Amino acid sequence: MAENIKLEVVTPEKSVVSEDAQIVMAPGTEGEFGVLSGHTPFLTSLKLGTIHYKNSEGKEAFVFVSGGFAEALPDRVTVLAESAERRRDIDIDRAKAAKKRAEERLAATGKDIVMERARTALSRSLHRINLAETRS
Ligand code: ATP
Repeated sequence: MAENIKLEVVTPEKSVVSEDAQIVMAPGTEGEFGVLSGHTPFLTSLKLGTIHYKNSEGKEAFVFVSGGFAEALPDRVTVLAESAERRRDIDIDRAKAAKKRAEERLAATGKDIVMERARTALSRSLHRINLAETRS
């Protein structure tokens, strides 16, 4: 059987994942990529999206990531993100409240920078809701 890789997902606040994985899929800014043991080392930025992996027992897991960076080495993948949480830890009511706030800000006129922040907040909330509600 193929060897596992160590997946680490870290935010400024906490370690979200520290687990052996058979395969890790992540949303690179250049496109979705997969990492298996023995992969050629590389570094990439990440888009907002979902990290999807199979743990050492073959069980699938999903982790929201707000964007960030990933370093892949032959035996490990390290993800640094501003925010991240496992699918099961997503609070849907909180995400819906964040969505409502962002939509209200976008409906009002404001400075470009504020609108941009509202747009990214809206993207985070929509992705969290989608991940929490639709993946099993
Ligand atoms: P909010 O306005 O609800 O804080 P946000 O998108 O601004 O949402 P982030 O800045 O992405 O929040 O994340 C701040 C922290 O809160 C991170 O630790 C993140 O994992 C956590 N977090 C944010 N939203 C949720 C959620 N809906 N469920 C669980 N954890 C969340």
